[in-house]
Parts: sequence; C-alpha cells; structure tokens
Amino acid sequence: MSKHFKMSWIIVFSIIFIMSCSDSAHEPSENLSLTGPQQNIILIIIDTLRADHLSCYGYHRYTSPSIDSLAAEGTIWANAQAQAPWTLPAHATIWTGLSVRSHRTLNPVPVLTDNGETVKLIFTLDKDLPSMPVLLREAGFSTFGIANFRILSDVYGFDVGFDQYSCNDDGAGRAGISVDSLLIWLEDHNDERFFCMIHLYDVHSPYSPPAPYNTAFQDDPDIGYFDWEIDNNEILNKTGRDIAVDLYDGEISWVDDNLSRLFSWVRENNLADETLIVVMSDHGEEFLEHDWVLHGETLYQEVLHIPLIMSGPGIERGHLDSTYVGQFDLLPTLLSWADVECSSYFDGTDILNSMAGDRVIPSSGTSNFSWVGRNQMASTVYNHSKTIMMNEMEDFMSFDLISDPGEQTALPGDSAGIEDVLFYWATPQLGFPGFAATDETTIQALRDLGYIND
Ligand SMILES: [Zn+2]
Repeated sequence: MSKHFKMSWIIVFSIIFIMSCSDSAHEPSENLSLTGPQQNIILIIIDTLRADHLSCYGYHRYTSPSIDSLAAEGTIWANAQAQAPWTLPAHATIWTGLSVRSHRTLNPVPVLTDNGETVKLIFTLDKDLPSMPVLLREAGFSTFGIANFRILSDVYGFDVGFDQYSCNDDGAGRAGISVDSLLIWLEDHNDERFFCMIHLYDVHSPYSPPAPYNTAFQDDPDIGYFDWEIDNNEILNKTGRDIAVDLYDGEISWVDDNLSRLFSWVRENNLADETLIVVMSDHGEEFLEHDWVLHGETLYQEVLHIPLIMSGPGIERGHLDSTYVGQFDLLPTLLSWADVECSSYFDGTDILNSMAGDRVIPSSGTSNFSWVGRNQMASTVYNHSKTIMMNEMEDFMSFDLISDPGEQTALPGDSAGIEDVLFYWATPQLGFPGFAATDETTIQALRDLGYIND
C-alpha cells in the first residue's frame, strides 16, 4: 500500500474523528481519569536551542554535560521537528498537540491600516482548545509554569491551566533565577503529583552568557555580547558569525549547568523513579547556513531540527530513536505516559507506542521576507525526504536529508512531497485565536480596521 493511498484513509478517519470529538473537545474533564501510580512531569523548553549544538546530538563541542547525562539515562529522538520557526506558534503546538494549521496561532501578520501605518497582528492561543496544562490539572496534577518571554504571558493565553504561572517579559540571563523558583515550588509540592513547565530564554539572541561561560568556547574575557545588526534586510556584521556561535554555545553551557541543579534535586529527593523529565526546544537558530540569521524567516533544518529527550519511568534507557517526530506529539505522549484517558483530537501521536511509525511531519511559518517573495511557508518531512513550499501554494523545492543534511542543493519539488505539503496546507482549522495588542496605537488601528468592536 503506498504512503499516499494510506494518506487518503487518514484523511477520512481524521475527518470522522474530528467530527465525533467536536462536542467533547471543550469539555475534557468528563473524559479524563487517573489510574497510574504517583508520576510527575517536568517539561524543560530551552528557547532557540538547535539540536545539533548539544554534545549528545554529536556536536564537536562539549556544551551539555548535564543534558547528556539525562539523555544517557533515557531516550534521544534524533529527528524531532519543530512545527514552526518562532516561539508563539511552536509553543501553541506544544500546548495543544495540534499543528499550526490546526490551532492557527500564527506568526505576527503585518496589517496595513487606512492611514498607511503597518501594525503587527499577534495572535493568541485559543483558550477553548484542550491544552497540556488544562488536561493535566484536570487529571489531578498540581501545575506550575515559569516562562521568560513576554509572548508566553497571560496576554497570549499560555497561563491557562496552571495553578501558578509567571512570565518575565525578557528573561535573558534568568536561567539561574528560574531554576531557583522552580526548586522552591518543588520543595513545597513534592508530595503531590506535579506537572512543571520551565521555559528558558537565555540561548536566544543577543548572545551574552555570564562569566565564565562567555569564555567557554573563546578566549577573550572582554567579549561577552553579540547581537546581529540588520538594516533594511541586510546583515551588517556577518563577519561576527564565529563569535556569535561561540557565545551561543556558551549560553547553552550556562543553561545546562543550571539544569544540573534541577536534575540533582530530583535524584536527591528520590523522585527519579516517578518523574518524567523532558528536554526540548521551540525552534533552532540560523548562523548564515542559508545566508540568514536568527529564526522565523525560513524552514530549513537549522531552525526546525530540535532536541527531544525524555528520561524517567517507562522510558527506554540509552536509546536513540531515529523516527521523525514533532512537537505536536508531546501532549498525546504525556497523557498516554501518565495513563490519562482523553478523547480530545490531536494531530500528534503517542511516540512511546512502538506502533507510531513513520508519519508526515509538517511545519509552517509566516516570513516577513516579502521583499524576496516569501510569505506563507510550509514544509513536510516524510522519513528523510523534505519538501518546502516557499510561497503560499507556490515555489516548491525538495531535499534528501541524508545525502544533503545541510539542504545546500535544492531539488525540484517532488510530487509526493508537494502532495504532502498541500494536504497539510488544507488542514481543517480547529483553533480560533484572538489577538493580543497592548499598546494603544495598535489597539486603535485594529479598532479602525474592524478587528475590535467596543
Ligand atoms: Zn522561541
């Protein structure tokens, strides 16, 4: 049976399943039950962390001894894919188990107002979608969240379902403080069944690891800061690329060192046998591999290839899983791991189930690069065959990620890949997000455009 013949059946079953779940989707509490033993979950999301810069993923530098140790006790997914190249939609996928085309919490969209100004419309998470913190709290978990980027604040809906949640507007350099806050909460709640989410923003640009981590991979103690200078879509300081990577790697070491305190706490409190620890990121980072930097503007692997590591009871030790998986798999996997029965629909699947197998893993984003003809982008990976759609419904190119892992030679879009991307593009919309606007100019502009009625 061909993949695409199977896909047509998946479409049929998906539609039937969505229809059958639509009434219950917003009332998950009736569908949940808790039958397992005491089990806890700690989810660590390291913003902007590329998989290939962790030593346990084969990086030539020793950036991550603590995460490496955790990985040695658990399973590494070698081919985990972000569903979006930017923080907001990627986290919406992690929260909901849905692809971006399903939850529709998109990248900011520039909107031209009547008076000629451009405002950015930033979507929020649809609070009616079943989400990780809501489902786990309803299943009996005490829930704690700490985030370090304003886009994950209550304004954007990411606090819903947490008993306690805090978000720092700009959490660069706060890995130490954030881990301390989590440990304080854990000391008070370690006799409960808990779900903790900690989002660390230190690896994100600008790259400014505190001493001595600034000299972990370069020798000059006076160099401790690098930020890209971009003017009119031109990168002015490309020659600083090596220092940028040195300091980025230093940030990873700083975060890793702080996480060692968290991992030690779990062991010292005899919770290792009943606590699942997950390490992942929301997206990666570009360092001129495709003549661009940062993230959010392309769908190449330097942005989409993310780490995914799990360690804890029920997780195979010292295992490397090369199946292509996605961020949308995490929620159904956690629910299954914790024996939480839930009839809500997810685009992802339980990847601890050996029957999960190979699937098409989609991603999408909205580039601001309209100056080079890119705007609505999407991509899919099936096994190691990747296809990218550069413009909405147009401009396809394909790559073989085994023979060309750096995606340096674009092949004409192959027909199976194009079919996968277009199928993903036609995903039924399940989420109906609002938008966030905190400054009066934007609010007034949106009011003028009819987005706000008051
Ligand atoms: Zn991010």
